[in-house]
Amino acid sequence: MTNETTAELTGFAALGITGALLKATQAAGFADPKPIQTQAIPPQLEGRDILGIAQTGSGKTAAFALPILSKIIGLGTKRRPKTTRALILAPTRELAVQIEDTIKLLAKGAHISTALVLGGVSRFSQVKKIGPGVDILIATPGRLTDLVREGDLILADTKWLVLDEGDRMLDMGFINDVKRIAKATAPDRQTALFSATMPDEIAELAKGLLKNPVRIEVAPQSTAAAEIVQSVVLARTKQKRQVLSKMLADEGMRSVIVFSRTKHGADRVTKDLARDGFEAAVIHGNKSQNARQKALNDFRDGSVRILVATDIAARGIDVPGISHVVNFDLPDEAESYVHRIGRTGRNGRDGIAITLCDPSENAKLRQVERIIRMKLPVIADHLGSPDPQRDPKEKTERHFEPANDREHHGGRRDGRRPGNGNNGKKRFGGKPAGEHAATGKPNGERNGDGAKRFRGNNKRRFGGKRPANRAA
Ligand code: AMP
Repeated sequence: MTNETTAELTGFAALGITGALLKATQAAGFADPKPIQTQAIPPQLEGRDILGIAQTGSGKTAAFALPILSKIIGLGTKRRPKTTRALILAPTRELAVQIEDTIKLLAKGAHISTALVLGGVSRFSQVKKIGPGVDILIATPGRLTDLVREGDLILADTKWLVLDEGDRMLDMGFINDVKRIAKATAPDRQTALFSATMPDEIAELAKGLLKNPVRIEVAPQSTAAAEIVQSVVLARTKQKRQVLSKMLADEGMRSVIVFSRTKHGADRVTKDLARDGFEAAVIHGNKSQNARQKALNDFRDGSVRILVATDIAARGIDVPGISHVVNFDLPDEAESYVHRIGRTGRNGRDGIAITLCDPSENAKLRQVERIIRMKLPVIADHLGSPDPQRDPKEKTERHFEPANDREHHGGRRDGRRPGNGNNGKKRFGGKPAGEHAATGKPNGERNGDGAKRFRGNNKRRFGGKRPANRAA
């Protein structure tokens, strides 16, 4: 190609994307590359490793998928059985499904095979799909580790490795699985690591896995949150149901995510909404993979306008056109607030975020305001009104939180990251999240559940037996 013709190229073509892939980007409506794509695609096409600091919503999926696709197209269909040419690791099932959807969209017209390996659904069909070998495998680390250990998947031929949402992997206790998986791939592989934040452990991981990487950083969602109008409604916990239902009666709330801090809380909100005449889908870690996917699909295609979600379950979900985010309660970690409200106001569209705040949550609210560096305006105050009476026909439900109610925030239920204490993470005053009020011990230590499993997991090798009930 002459300099002259290069100068004429625009959009993805100017980045080196050609043929069917270029057509697919146009068909997908990706007219102009996003900043992360402009920065990440050319070096990857040259074979460089990438360290990308970017969030979901930045366009990072196409940023890593297009170079891999352009290298795999043309390699033909000759693959060894049970192998994959490229492996993309994602922390959650929802993100993995979303990545596969994007890849399929971009690979339209090219003969590329993809497969998903996720926890919580049958292994049989996954093993069958990998059998003849695939081009691109998208996986969550837990189930992938199982398949490798049992010899159903061989990673020796894997020449492209992507680790997506590295900080989430860390939070969810997957970091050792990730290291083992990376070690099993081809030593001369090309690697890309994406993370919204760069805690020490991720920087360390990057050092171990990436060779002389190109470092790319795009502005996080939180700095682009100017289009999101944020406010607070003061309401006691007992008033929140009524306040929410009154709010949702406004049809202008076209597409709403309601966030709940706990899984039990999410179920309770969904049930109360149904009693008040609002159909809502719900998504949290205790739901089966199929139920979670159905909830997401129904929400995405508009057949339900309300999705109730916990923080972890909603992470990484990219549903365009969400008009409102309602925080039924404040999250345990102030950073989660930024992730929550970032579900709306995407792609430059306006968004509205409303937070219901009980007086007991004031400290959390102050912490959020410190993080976003602004005071949130109070648009309504119900504190002077009496608590609404529950319909006596409704079964009385005690408000309690089972010990394992909070979503896994990491292998460790105390909310701290393994390794170095709280890792400089901002945390609300008082007890660390997940700590048992009476014993002061992390829940996992008390009930032998999450934390123990993670520690065991830490030591696991591909040769060992893993716990049967590990999700994702
Ligand atoms: P991601 O961060 O990869 O989850 O992408 C966020 C959203 O941006 C997805 O809905 C993509 O379909 C969309 N997207 C990615 N790249 C482009 C582009 N160049 N132009 C328009 N939309 C894009």
